[in-house]
Amino acid sequence: MGKLILYSGVMGSSKTTSLMQEVYNLENSGNEDEKNKQKKRQNKKIILMKPGVDTKGHEFFHSRFGGEFYRPVDVILPADKTIIEACNLSKVNILNYDFLVIDEAQFMNPKQVYELWQISNKIEKLQIICYSLITDFQANFFPGSEALSRFADEKYILVRRCEYCAQELANFNARKVNGVFVTEGDQVVIDNKADVSYKSLCGACYYKHLRANDDVSQQIDRELSEIKKYVKKK
Ligand SMILES: [Zn+2]
Repeated sequence: MGKLILYSGVMGSSKTTSLMQEVYNLENSGNEDEKNKQKKRQNKKIILMKPGVDTKGHEFFHSRFGGEFYRPVDVILPADKTIIEACNLSKVNILNYDFLVIDEAQFMNPKQVYELWQISNKIEKLQIICYSLITDFQANFFPGSEALSRFADEKYILVRRCEYCAQELANFNARKVNGVFVTEGDQVVIDNKADVSYKSLCGACYYKHLRANDDVSQQIDRELSEIKKYVKKK
């Protein structure tokens, strides 16, 4: 059966590097063909897809490790096109492929994710593998990652350690603007005028640096101090 597979992780958890490794392995997989003695490999046919607005640009996969990937993106998926429309625009016949591999899958819209699930149930030999962030800098779902979390048949988590303490696994993508942690702003930064960067933090470090003084935190501090007073009186 076809299936929809989700690899998720915080920033810097080697999602794109893992994707490159997966694509390399798939394209070089299969038994040597003993019959014709030509050692011709039964390579898997893969579509590489990336959500984006530019339908013409020839993009390559990028990773923080290893520089530019050797494989260009086959299909750019615009927000206003269906999965199959986008494949057709790039002259890719989805029926001829074994794998559809999607990077930055959090940027798909929920309908496109639902289409993926439908397609995985209709095209038996097609496996769809998505690499995705799960939450944004405010710890909210991306629309695409929320839908993927609901529909994926298999889910795997890629991990990295917290950039601050290096003790715990990172679970949050904290945003810095001009060197200062922020909790407000757009989900996706479009213009790059400000100096925007991200830190992958564990829960304790994210709390300490971003959430230790917000409204709920202060409310709980008040409630806890009330309980402590009550306990002392007793
Ligand atoms: Zn930490």
